[in-house]
Amino acid sequence: MKKKLSVVIPAYNEEKNISFLISELVKTLKSTEYDFEFILVDDGSKDNTLNEIKIQSEIHHNVFYIELSKNFGKDYALKSGIDMATGNAVITMDADLQHPPYLLPKMLKFWENGFDIIYTYREDANPHVKGYQKMASKLFYKGINALSDITLENGISDFRLLDEKVIRELRKIDEYEIFFRGMVKWVGFLQKGIPYTPAKRHTGEASYSFLNLAKLAIGSIMAFSVRPLYIATGLGLFFSLASLLYIPYIAISYFAGYDAVSGWASLIATISFFGGIQLLVLGIIGMYLGKIFLQTKHRPNYIIRSTNLNVVKNDYIRI
Ligand code: UDP
Ligand code: MG
Repeated sequence: MKKKLSVVIPAYNEEKNISFLISELVKTLKSTEYDFEFILVDDGSKDNTLNEIKIQSEIHHNVFYIELSKNFGKDYALKSGIDMATGNAVITMDADLQHPPYLLPKMLKFWENGFDIIYTYREDANPHVKGYQKMASKLFYKGINALSDITLENGISDFRLLDEKVIRELRKIDEYEIFFRGMVKWVGFLQKGIPYTPAKRHTGEASYSFLNLAKLAIGSIMAFSVRPLYIATGLGLFFSLASLLYIPYIAISYFAGYDAVSGWASLIATISFFGGIQLLVLGIIGMYLGKIFLQTKHRPNYIIRSTNLNVVKNDYIRI
């Protein structure tokens, strides 16, 4: 029997890319020995993306859509598609054609050779990324690698192939906050990374703002590490010990006959410094507490408004 591939694509305001994307992918995959299906997830787009996907699903019997009830974010859109994929392998990629389809045969070869996860990472010399974006991205990967137990390549992307064994495990993970790039590294298995040069966006604008990316970066680091809490404790410990050194200083000044009021400036400086450290530490603890709060609610990662996939009643489990 032919093996089947599921291509899962999250799309947010990508109306102009859908038909071109499908035709490119069909062209590439037709020449392989596999059956394939496309699951396109409309992540609460404000444009005509969903209709474009529906049109494609009328043209091609193997194009499916999932309409989410609102914009949940790329990782959550990906999860909804992965949860419902039926292939022996799942390929995840962007809708804007920045993830070049010509890499697929290479990824499939590694899969046939026994790798369970084939992921891609951006080559350093990416002509489509501005200088400051490169720096911010480097900083993020340095941060997450230093603060957590997983190691992510610089510029690792969401363009990857996952064997069904891996998919099975990923579906079991019940976390409120999802960061696929980290999770895929964390699950282990036989992994192979291949470098790629991203293409220019086919049409449209990248939809993540700087603030969104900053939030994502902090969220991702916190999802994979409690080390910032240790750092907070360490800071507290260091400064409380250091402040002990202040006592002999006061004693010596007293006996040396210095005027007590002369310490006023240094006192204010010390108080505001420790006030700041305390707020920082409380903030870090508060952020983790917030995450625990959200996790304990056990809200779903995504909500489906409609789909043409065969689903069992309201459970949205693929038959
Ligand atoms: N995307 C999504 N939900 C969002 C934002 C983006 O599903 O809230 C999709 C988007 O349609 C695209 C992919 O995620 O297929 C990558 O997004 P984008 O091109 O905006 O980001 P970048 O290329 O900078 O990673
Ligand atoms: Mg893009």
